[in-house]
Amino acid sequence: MGSTDIDQPVLVAGAGPTGMTAALALHARGVPAAILEADSEDRDRAGSRAIYVHGSTLKTFDRVSPGLGKKQVEEGLVWPTRRTLWRGKEVFKRTYDNPGGDGEFPHFTSIPQESTEAYMHDALEEAGIPIHWDAGVESVESTPDGVHVETADGREWEAPYLIGADGGGSRVRKEIGAEFEGDQSENSFVIVDVDLHTDSIRNEPLPFERMFHYDDPAANGRNVMLVPFSGGWRLDIQCLGDDDPEEVSGEETLKEIIASVMGEEYTDNIKWTSTYKFLQVIADRFVDEHRRVLLAGEAAHLLAPFGARGMNSCVADADAAASAITVALQARTDGVARHEVDLYESQRRDAAEYNVWAAGEALKYLQGEDPVTVLRKEVSASLADYFEPAGEYLDDAPYGPHEAPPSAASGNY
Ligand SMILES: Cc1cc2nc3c(=O)[nH]c(=O)nc-3n(C[C@H](O)[C@H](O)[C@H](O)COP(=O)(O)OP(=O)(O)OC[C@H]3O[C@@H](n4cnc5c(N)ncnc54)[C@H](O)[C@@H]3O)c2cc1C
Repeated sequence: MGSTDIDQPVLVAGAGPTGMTAALALHARGVPAAILEADSEDRDRAGSRAIYVHGSTLKTFDRVSPGLGKKQVEEGLVWPTRRTLWRGKEVFKRTYDNPGGDGEFPHFTSIPQESTEAYMHDALEEAGIPIHWDAGVESVESTPDGVHVETADGREWEAPYLIGADGGGSRVRKEIGAEFEGDQSENSFVIVDVDLHTDSIRNEPLPFERMFHYDDPAANGRNVMLVPFSGGWRLDIQCLGDDDPEEVSGEETLKEIIASVMGEEYTDNIKWTSTYKFLQVIADRFVDEHRRVLLAGEAAHLLAPFGARGMNSCVADADAAASAITVALQARTDGVARHEVDLYESQRRDAAEYNVWAAGEALKYLQGEDPVTVLRKEVSASLADYFEPAGEYLDDAPYGPHEAPPSAASGNY
């Protein structure tokens, strides 16, 4: 122990947004890193997934790889309007003159995850950080001095530290004996990407508004959320209790919903569809017994996407894990090195607990039968024409609390 002149790079399992951020964040701190990825290089990572990138995340990207956040801002979309309809009738609309604010980075940008990942791949290449494809982690053995890893391609690796950023089904999590604890959403949600890059959307595309339809008559009384991003629109359709999600996500039903909420000209542009029940879970520990393996991102926690805490909190984990490892590598005592890793666990567990709670508040609101919430929604809808805060409540509530976890002084999620 004693310097960042290490013989072996720190290993990162997984080339998703968490793993790529972690590798860039290590490199930016002068620590060599290498990524082990289970998939092949020609994989298809389709789907908009994390479209809402918070300003704090853009700043982290730019800090660990200058220009990375700015490239996303250049491509991304800052939609100016929030709009909400209650059973087909508008109850709230607000358009901002300067929706991104005056800072160096906007409050958010809306960009498909596949673009974010493409920029990250460029940044890794520029930094000379290797991704070893077809090298899924199969076993992890940690000791007080480091980690021994075996991968699916038959190779064996020694490293001072391993970051497990291998997603929700994490092998690394299982290898260190950690387990997810938590719940699953009651309702299923159908997520659809509608492409904008086609001739059928002619001269008058829909205005860029983030829209929420409560009990939309055009969608058989389901809730539908629409969010624009650069290149497309994202629809989240909340299935009703007795819905068959396969039927709702079938082409016929989707085309009917899209024709009603967006317009007939969008129905041939379905690019990606997926059906989910959202998990709200946290690993019972984020680190191994020797404090040499750190779980980050979805390997450590999964949450519903309302409030957009998913990828944003994964990026914050990745940066914090890189910071802890950098200090631990320079420590002159084992105690200090272990303590840094323990601090990582306690800070990011606090953040995960807050984020899961906040996403859970949104979920509870959306799917809950709680009579007080039902009454509050009804009363707000009836007052919205005369009393703007009532409409604003309806507009805001589906996304849950807005704040970053109080434990994250940086404002990161
Ligand atoms: C429908 C949907 C909408 C979403 N919307 C938002 C949003 O608006 N805002 C937001 O912030 N987030 C959102 N998210 C969440 C976001 O997509 C995830 O949080 C993010 O992709 C997680 O990143 P990750 O790197 O932790 O995991 P992943 O993206 O799952 O990456 C894990 C990587 O590890 C690899 N891997 C797996 N096993 C191994 C192994 N054994 N060894 C090595 N590599 C392995 C995988 O191939 C993959 O490349 C959404 C997610 C979904 C599904």
